[in-house]
Amino acid sequence: MANTLLILPGDGIGPEVMAEVRRVIDWFGARGLAFDVSEDLVGGCSYDAHGTPLTDAAMETAQAVDAVLLGAVGGPKWEDLDFADKPERGLLRLRKEMDLFANLRPAQCFDALADFSSLKRDLVAGLDMMIVRELTSGVYFGEPRGVSHDGNERVGINTHRYTESEIARVARAAFDLARKRDNRVCSMEKRNVMEAGILWKDVVEEVHAAEYPDVELTHMLADAGGMQIVRAPKQFDVILTDNLFGDMLSDVAAMLTGSLGMLPSASLGAPMENGRPKALYEPVHGSAPDIAGQGKANPIACILSFAMALRYSFDAGDEAAMLEGAIEDVLEQGTRTGDLMGAEGGTPVSTSEMGDAILAALDARAA
Ligand code: NAD
Repeated sequence: MANTLLILPGDGIGPEVMAEVRRVIDWFGARGLAFDVSEDLVGGCSYDAHGTPLTDAAMETAQAVDAVLLGAVGGPKWEDLDFADKPERGLLRLRKEMDLFANLRPAQCFDALADFSSLKRDLVAGLDMMIVRELTSGVYFGEPRGVSHDGNERVGINTHRYTESEIARVARAAFDLARKRDNRVCSMEKRNVMEAGILWKDVVEEVHAAEYPDVELTHMLADAGGMQIVRAPKQFDVILTDNLFGDMLSDVAAMLTGSLGMLPSASLGAPMENGRPKALYEPVHGSAPDIAGQGKANPIACILSFAMALRYSFDAGDEAAMLEGAIEDVLEQGTRTGDLMGAEGGTPVSTSEMGDAILAALDARAA
């Protein structure tokens, strides 16, 4: 089966970090894991070229490929555009039209960077957990919503609403993922104060009993879960939660690992005809206009996003582990972009020098 990939570098540091991903893709291509790669515009650069943050043609390609890899969108140049034209609308259109309901945010702490965490080294060194956040429903989308009047005061309303099928499909994504990892899922909701939380737990248990009895399932109230994530994060493998709690818990978990320049993500949808899920991979960071065009950006978050694509779209778990291992080697050697410079100082490498180091580490592992 051909491996098809659409690359959308986007704005700011997006093209700089994506250039290093292209080199990694070529490295695997030269060793038998080939990709059919197309490239298009998204965000502000697409608005400048076509008057829209994502063209219908780019959207069509995104729907047809096995995986989309996105850099970052946005920047001061486009901040005053109408809401519909803003760079972020391109990203939101991709997520919405591809119906990417499961957002995967790993919190993985490389030993060499454990001192960057706000927690003590022994709590985070070797940390490897994954938060699966429901991304297309819940309180950010529920109706009714809005600000209206109740008597002589204003009232703000949002509705937390989940259907059984919405819960079941994201639960399946979490269980499938657990099977590729340590086989444990902890589901988090607020069943003590929310009816939707009671339904969430019931449906997760039903899906578990019927389809995934081999996976270990536990439940935690989301507030207690937040506390446990900072108290003893290594107890978790996969955390399954809704859109609102997942938004907060994944940001908390991310900061356990230090720098924004290290954090990948994936958003997955339903399986396509070839069995692969609809998929969008992107670093968590934005377009970093403060350092764009200066060769200072850390490309690792974007390269780790490609490693997630290898694992979850292309069933190339060994190659993903090899790439993650090469990044670990580079960090162990002390190679650092500016965002990873600690108190000990040293000279930071450029974006492309970090790419050089990762390719050299891949060569060494392949030898
Ligand atoms: P940001 O993530 O772009 O930058 C925050 C800080 O982290 C900056 O100091 C930046 O230099 C640094 N940083 C980020 N990524 C880095 C990397 N790879 N290497 C080294 N340093 C890195 O967030 P922001 O400044 O709040 O937003 C800038 C623009 O990006 C805005 O237009 C915003 O809307 C957009 N944005 C886009 C996305 C996305 O595309 N998914 C996400 C967040 C923000």
